[in-house]
Amino acid sequence: MPYRPIDTEARLSIVKQYWAGQKIAELERQYNVDRDSIHIWINKAELALIDALSPKKPGPKKDPMDQLLKRNTELEQINRKLQIQLQELSQNSHIKIGVDRRQIDLRPGTCPTCGCDTIWKNGTYVRKDAHVQRFRCSSCGTKIFLDVKKTP
Ligand SMILES: [Zn+2]
Repeated sequence: MPYRPIDTEARLSIVKQYWAGQKIAELERQYNVDRDSIHIWINKAELALIDALSPKKPGPKKDPMDQLLKRNTELEQINRKLQIQLQELSQNSHIKIGVDRRQIDLRPGTCPTCGCDTIWKNGTYVRKDAHVQRFRCSSCGTKIFLDVKKTP
C-alpha cells in the first residue's frame, strides 16, 4: 500500500512513542509509514536533542545583547556629534553677510561728462535725509553725488 505523507507533529509523536517503548513495527502499522523513515526521524531527533542539550562552548563569541548595547552606545555618540555639527552649521547659515546690495548697485557706471567708466569713491557726507556718496571721475575730475542710504 502507498505511504501517505506525514507531517512534522506526527513524526514527533512517532519518535516520542518509540522513546516511550513502542515497537517500530507497531508504529509503522499505526501511522502507515515505512520503518526506514521512522529510523531516520529517530536518528535525526536524537542528534538534534544532543545538540540542544549540549552545553554551549565558551569562547570568543560574545553575548549578542552586550554587542548590541555597545553598538547602540557608539551610534548614540555619533548621533550626538552630528547633532552638534548640525547646530553649528545651522547657526552659520543664520549669519548675514554684511553687504548692502543698494550700495553696490548705486554706483555711477560712467561719467556723465566724459563717458569714462573709471570712477572713484570720494567720501561720503550726511545730509538731512540721506547719506550721500561722492564720486569723482578719474579722467576729467567731474564730481558725482549719489544718495545711497536714508538715515534711519
Ligand atoms: Zn569724466
